[in-house]
Amino acid sequence: MATYIVLLGPPGAGKGTQAKILAQTTNLAHISSGDLFRENITNQTELGKLAKSYMDKGELVPDDITIAMVRERITRSDCKNGAIVDGFPRTPIQADAFEKILDGLGAAVTAVPYVTAAEAVLIERTGGRWSCRAQGHIYHKKFNPPKQEGICDIDGSELYQRDDDKEETVAKRIRVYLERTMPLVEYYRKRGKLIEINGVQPVEQVTKELLAALK
Ligand code: ADP
Ligand code: AMP
Repeated sequence: MATYIVLLGPPGAGKGTQAKILAQTTNLAHISSGDLFRENITNQTELGKLAKSYMDKGELVPDDITIAMVRERITRSDCKNGAIVDGFPRTPIQADAFEKILDGLGAAVTAVPYVTAAEAVLIERTGGRWSCRAQGHIYHKKFNPPKQEGICDIDGSELYQRDDDKEETVAKRIRVYLERTMPLVEYYRKRGKLIEINGVQPVEQVTKELLAALK
């Protein structure tokens, strides 16, 4: 059966960083709802325009739009063995919908690593985050700097600071996370899927613990 790992945690906990490493190590697809929205913004699609109006304010994009986007993504052929999913689901309605989508594929969520970090850490990490324009590779000016400033080590594209990483928007995103996404911790704990991982450790150590927990 296909493997679907959902990375849960607050903004800046390190989900995207770990999802990219895990996808490479496990040969599973990487699905990031945030990256999908940002691709749509870059390509100036209608979905991108709509998503941007919510993202810039630090709010969640409405459930029906987000669910439809992920439903389409998951049926692509690179997901046939499963995926590492980061940033989705973010509400109980999304989690229920995801269960139905996977059920329709004869699959289920395999495990939900919950990556934790204190608020001060989240603010420092998002405040120094640099993202690659072409493929969303993730850097940090202090914790994970690129070899050459402003340039992605992997694909040479420009690095930029996300609009929604401004400190006041991050504070809003953390509030939205606590209100709307935190309930998923209990949702997945009740289903026996939750695995707590301390995100305040070096990237390699977090990866090691994730891989050990997922075995
Ligand atoms: P999320 O996807 O949960 O929002 P990211 O993976 O984008 O988080 O990480 C947020 C920022 O913190 C990035 O700048 C990233 O380089 C940095 N980062 C990620 N994991 C760690 C870590 N374990 N230690 C220090 N910095 C980290
Ligand atoms: P991320 O890249 O995960 O930090 O997400 C950036 C922004 O995209 C969020 O603050 C939301 O506005 C939007 N977003 C990403 N994933 C979702 C989701 N599952 N549901 C609603 N909005 C989302």
